[in-house]
Amino acid sequence: MMEFVTRFAPSPTGLLHLGHAFSALTAYEAAKQADGRFLLRIEDIDRTRCKPEFEEAIYEDLRWLGLEWETPVRRQSDHFDEYAVALATLQEKGVVYRCFKTRKEILDEIARAPHLSRKGPEGPQYVGEALPPKEEQTLIEEGAPYAWRLSMAAAKDLLGGEWETLSFTEETPEGLRTVKATPDIFGDAVVARKDNGTSYHLASVHDDALQGVTHVIRGEDLYHAAHLHRLLQVLLALPEPVYRHHRLLTDETGRRFAKRDKAATLKSMRESGAKADDIVTRLGFSRV
Ligand code: GLU
Repeated sequence: MMEFVTRFAPSPTGLLHLGHAFSALTAYEAAKQADGRFLLRIEDIDRTRCKPEFEEAIYEDLRWLGLEWETPVRRQSDHFDEYAVALATLQEKGVVYRCFKTRKEILDEIARAPHLSRKGPEGPQYVGEALPPKEEQTLIEEGAPYAWRLSMAAAKDLLGGEWETLSFTEETPEGLRTVKATPDIFGDAVVARKDNGTSYHLASVHDDALQGVTHVIRGEDLYHAAHLHRLLQVLLALPEPVYRHHRLLTDETGRRFAKRDKAATLKSMRESGAKADDIVTRLGFSRV
């Protein structure tokens, strides 16, 4: 049987809520059904928003739900050097450029030429280019902060015909679906942020490959990310996982759970006497 490895990859920026429990259980149950492996990964590259107490709460909440995972758990903040190596590969391929612009400068630029910018999954589809080398050198010497953006035009040139056939595989209850990947919906995506030298996209794609993840199971809010992730996999010569984007859980009013919904956090439910088994059942899973 083909090996099956999946993961739950929360960011410790708040307490887990019912939506996270649904996502974690979806991946966990899929691994169990396939006789595969379930990994937990802490995606804590955002050093200002991530807090150790939220990481502790993740372990506590998931243990309470009856989940078990392999140890040691990979914490992304311990591996910035590895993401720098992945970024260097993109630099060597000439598909990334330094972007010194502030968010405001980008928005102003777009406002002046709105026809140039459609909306992408993470905001405006900004398309820029590297500064002339001398100008860039001056800014670097001045210590000006910069992000690295993936030039979709350069990636397209590099891949040639492969760009047109780029696709990812989405597994649905009806079977496997091949989806044409159109990473340019992101515009020139930031692959390394100014503050930490990486991004969710780069770190996540890197780690999924490193950890041998065969099935990326996550909420459908990240469906579009697969378009970009597939391109990064090709550029970094990484294996291609199968994707399963699951529906997002909503409350009685049809609203998605969010970190601001204090009452729906697993911690508050546990403290008010809820039973883990009841929650698992309520979420549509039949065990613990
Ligand atoms: N860390 C991401 C989040 O908490 C999930 C990333 C993923 O599953 O690919 O939304």
